[in-house]
Amino acid sequence: MSESSVLQLLRPAIRRLVPYHSARSLSMEADIFLDANETPWDPQTGEESALGGMNRYPEPQPKDLRVALAKLYDVATERIFLGRGSDEAIDVLIRSFCEAGRDAILICPPTYGVYSVMAEIQGASVVEAPLESQTFALDTQKIRELWDPKIKLIFLCSPNNPTANLLSKDAILQLCEFFQGRAMVVVDEAYLEFSGEQSLSTALTQFSNLIVLRTLSKAYGLAAARCGVALGDPQVIEAMQKVRAPYPISQPSLVAVLSALTPEKLRRAQARVSQICEERERVMEELEALPNVEHVFNSDANFVLVKFSNSNKVFRSCAGKGVLLRDRSTMLGLENCLRISIGSPAQNDRLLALLKEAAVGA
Ligand code: PMP
Repeated sequence: MSESSVLQLLRPAIRRLVPYHSARSLSMEADIFLDANETPWDPQTGEESALGGMNRYPEPQPKDLRVALAKLYDVATERIFLGRGSDEAIDVLIRSFCEAGRDAILICPPTYGVYSVMAEIQGASVVEAPLESQTFALDTQKIRELWDPKIKLIFLCSPNNPTANLLSKDAILQLCEFFQGRAMVVVDEAYLEFSGEQSLSTALTQFSNLIVLRTLSKAYGLAAARCGVALGDPQVIEAMQKVRAPYPISQPSLVAVLSALTPEKLRRAQARVSQICEERERVMEELEALPNVEHVFNSDANFVLVKFSNSNKVFRSCAGKGVLLRDRSTMLGLENCLRISIGSPAQNDRLLALLKEAAVGA
């Protein structure tokens, strides 16, 4: 796909759009800022403040954060779109590529619900190519057969939420090849760190129609900071910048995220990921021994999908004792399935004790 043809997939209105320019997007060379209708005093200190105070609008895409995340994800800075979580990146992608009432996205259910909800909000339709039953592998042939020029974005979640399995890298790359010039392939790697696998971002230089989503909400423990990224072709990232909110990254979030990216904190996050993976194996083993557990699906994520003989009862009895699980039993092919996040060792102990209790007489 040539660089210009990837832009052909954008909504014409977005290609033409002259974006809103925030007050300081053209120049920051000043020591008195009377350009953004802010108040001069920082309420936290009571003093006049220059940039960086709570009284000042933050940088729309803070340079320090883009540089830090470019390093973390090993991509060039111009390939980074910063969002309020990867959820915002999903929304911005759909609003950038899907014309309301005309275009569509393709998803592979059972999968993360936000793709179809954002599409519906935008007025885009949703085409489904279900994952294979039992293995939850991609049905690449079905995806190709379903393709139609109105499909602008193909969402692939790897590891997939809620089934917890990685999708085949080769299958995804073949889809990128097949859809060159036809559609964007968006690979959501929210849980990748728990799989030990390499990111597909290494293929970004090869495929301009590939977008990779990453988040700081899971492995880095920063869900409250709301910070996620889309990694992609620099021209696509630039187009997404036209569509995003004027100031999406708040100053407190910026401070929280930057302070969590020091070498020491990153080592700690890595150790926590290893701990979660160890706990995952223990929890899965214990779940498999329960009489009302029909199947524990393989997991490459920080959660497991479990099929019970009586998921409703299990869900209610855990909730009644203050342990909330995620009921996924109404999703395609997931009858009687609950999704269980891996907690701390003590939390997992409590969960397992409750599940053992609930299994008695099941
Ligand atoms: N993708 C997947 C697959 C998820 O499960 C989630 C969160 N539940 C997200 C994206 C969004 O994460 P965030 O907005 O916190 O980055």
